[in-house]
Amino acid sequence: MFELTAQSIDPAVLSARLARPDAGALVVFEGRVRNHHLGRPVTHLGYEAFDELARAEGDAIVAETERLHPGAHVLCVHRTGTLGIGDIAVWIGVASAHRDTGFAACRHVIEEIKRRLPIWKKEHHPDGAAEWVNCTVEPARSRPTAADDFHARQVALPEIGAAGQARLVAARVLIVGVGGLGCPAALYLAGAGIGRLTLVDGGRIERSNLHRQLLFTVAEIGAPKALAAAARLRLHAPALDVVAHETNLDARNARALVAGHDVVLDCTDNFASRFILHDACHALGVPLVSAAVHRFEGTLDVFRRGEGGCVHCLWPARRADELDGTGNCAAGPVFAPAVGVLGTLQASEALKLLLGLDADAARRTTLVNLLDNSFLTIARPARADCPVCGQPETAAPAFAADDAAALLDSETLAALDPAPRVVCLAEPNETPGATEAISPHDVARLRALAAEGPLALTCRSGVRSAALARLLRAEGLRNVYALARR
Ligand SMILES: [Zn+2]
Repeated sequence: MFELTAQSIDPAVLSARLARPDAGALVVFEGRVRNHHLGRPVTHLGYEAFDELARAEGDAIVAETERLHPGAHVLCVHRTGTLGIGDIAVWIGVASAHRDTGFAACRHVIEEIKRRLPIWKKEHHPDGAAEWVNCTVEPARSRPTAADDFHARQVALPEIGAAGQARLVAARVLIVGVGGLGCPAALYLAGAGIGRLTLVDGGRIERSNLHRQLLFTVAEIGAPKALAAAARLRLHAPALDVVAHETNLDARNARALVAGHDVVLDCTDNFASRFILHDACHALGVPLVSAAVHRFEGTLDVFRRGEGGCVHCLWPARRADELDGTGNCAAGPVFAPAVGVLGTLQASEALKLLLGLDADAARRTTLVNLLDNSFLTIARPARADCPVCGQPETAAPAFAADDAAALLDSETLAALDPAPRVVCLAEPNETPGATEAISPHDVARLRALAAEGPLALTCRSGVRSAALARLLRAEGLRNVYALARR
């Protein structure tokens, strides 16, 4: 139950209202008015609410909390009007059979009240000044920027930098399935600063999930997974915009769920969902990162329309219900670190897709075996007889169509106007010759040079320079060339 009151709060009266014979725990939080804020002394506060909106949102928060923490009975009372130092501004009580449930539910109500309740406070200072303060936004919780400490170690990577971080902040990622794969994937994406994560899962947390689904706790058994995961991720990355859909993906809702996202992660555990999600992503042209785990082994695929084979190329002429009888991990034995590794790889592939770091990601299947620590990468070409891909790919390397534009002989390069800057790709221990030398791993530097003007790459064999020219051109840097070797 949620209430607004202009009267002072009496904790004893409110505690008595939560007395229940089956409750072994009463967890209480009292938010009190303090005599300072952001270094300034405060004499008293005024709280003002949009009554109707605040009551509706407060009721929604309490109902959501009781679903998220089954067995919790919540009473939350928020003050309005003028409050003196030490007065109780918000009182939250949770009665429950066990203390874990009480603490977790109380914490959830506090976080959501701060984030969602339309209540404003006016701070009054000793000098007579007063100012409105938005209760929901505190300095430490504001959205991190590229210069923020939160992501400093990541922004320091030349492959990411401030521009890459801005791409991540602007990105919207859909995760279908918040289980063994979805939990680590969601945590790493949230930590990386993805702007919006959408979680889709109609399941509830079971005791047998907890050994591998590390977002959840014993206190949340029975709670909706999508909702619990969203709450946990908000604690991990306060700036994250996370949307939870308590539903399972099916043929009717797949396209609507996929639409509007930049990358989709398939973290489901059955072939039926895998095919439906793949086809929706294919139809809408949204890249899909798919993983599956069986015992100690896993497979990882990135699907992107027009590149490499699709899921029907991998599983030709097989129906999902037949496949689910073979490699399904929904109820099978699972080595927990295997889903941890594969889910983490999914997050990595999603981040690379958003950053444009791995041009060949959608042309291979990666097989991981944790029993012998083997990673095997095999090509995944489109099949000539695939009903979805239609036209088969030739055996030509990636970006073959662009080769003619990227690879120029020395005469054509010399004739370019303006003249290109010639850079030799060489490691420090190699002898570059007369031209300027840059490590082929310093892609960020090459990008920066390409942004300044035409860039011609050379290297000893011609292989690395051609590959990097293709990579940079695929990013849209069309004035990067490589010297063709004869
Ligand atoms: Zn195909």
